[in-house]
Amino acid sequence: NALGSLVAHYQKGEDQIQLREHSLVSHLPKALEAGQLSVLFQPKINLHNMQLAQAEALIRWQHPEYGEVSPAEFIPLVEGAGIIDIVSMWVFEEVLQQQAAWLAAGFELAVAINFSAKDISNTKFIDQVLAKLNAAPVANRLVVIEITESALMDDFESVIQGIEKLRVHGVNIAIDDFGTGHSSLAYLKHLPVDEIKIDKAFVDGLLDDAHAAEIMQTSIRLASNLGFKVTVEGVEEQPIADALISMGADMLQGDLYGIPQSGEQIQQFILSGQSGAQ
Ligand code: C2E
Ligand code: MG
Ligand code: MG
Ligand code: MG
Repeated sequence: NALGSLVAHYQKGEDQIQLREHSLVSHLPKALEAGQLSVLFQPKINLHNMQLAQAEALIRWQHPEYGEVSPAEFIPLVEGAGIIDIVSMWVFEEVLQQQAAWLAAGFELAVAINFSAKDISNTKFIDQVLAKLNAAPVANRLVVIEITESALMDDFESVIQGIEKLRVHGVNIAIDDFGTGHSSLAYLKHLPVDEIKIDKAFVDGLLDDAHAAEIMQTSIRLASNLGFKVTVEGVEEQPIADALISMGADMLQGDLYGIPQSGEQIQQFILSGQSGAQ
């Protein structure tokens, strides 16, 4: 009957999704070894001098069967499977290698890395990160760890402990995707962090929606007054950038200033002394 075939249809869809999810997670460790994953770097521009301030490391997976698989899909699966530390450590090592290569080429650049709550609250993981950083030619102040607002709320006490340990060693901390979780800026004033990244969701509609503009202005002002550096991500157009500059943001990130690109491309950009990332 019709209902039966509808149910069967959806079950087939769900089975396929589960198959894909299971396949992604179970193949990830081998995929790392096989060189299917890579790290790209997206510019974060300092609005006080319009220079490249940092780059955010963003992972990419070129899957032999599924093609490009978005981190928005596989990172939550890997987190759920309890093996995110493998990915995070791999990205961290790739970043240190890239920063060392940049140093050898004659410049230093801070890199922001996305860690999950499970990483930050894992004492062994944090100790390993600090040991690797210590052994690398890279200064600790050139590392920024981005933690999503919701991850922070997950496991508050132990995440704060991890954050404090990193900061004692001069590593910087940013709260990512700010505004999408359930915390308030007033609450954030107690957090030992250096930077707040306002989510792209608040950028859309900024120019045509007075409420959106008011929320953005208030967030930037309050975060600045509390002593945080304020980054806005997902900036695609110049008029939006102009509005955010006049609202007092410190850094902007988005396709307007540069899409995620290879470490080599970042190096060419810096050494050629251009003022726009592409
Ligand atoms: P995120 O950390 O908030 O990173 C910003 C995302 O916004 C990136 O997506 C970036 O490519 C995208 N983006 C930046 N500017 C623009 C813009 O102007 N327009 C549009 N439409 N998009 C823009 P991406 O690379 O797909 O990453 C998605 C999310 O996956 C990241 O969000 C982060 O939460 C996670 N992720 C990526 N790499 C890693 C990683 O190495 N480790 C962990 N734990 N998570 C990662
Ligand atoms: Mg991020
Ligand atoms: Mg070092
Ligand atoms: Mg974000």
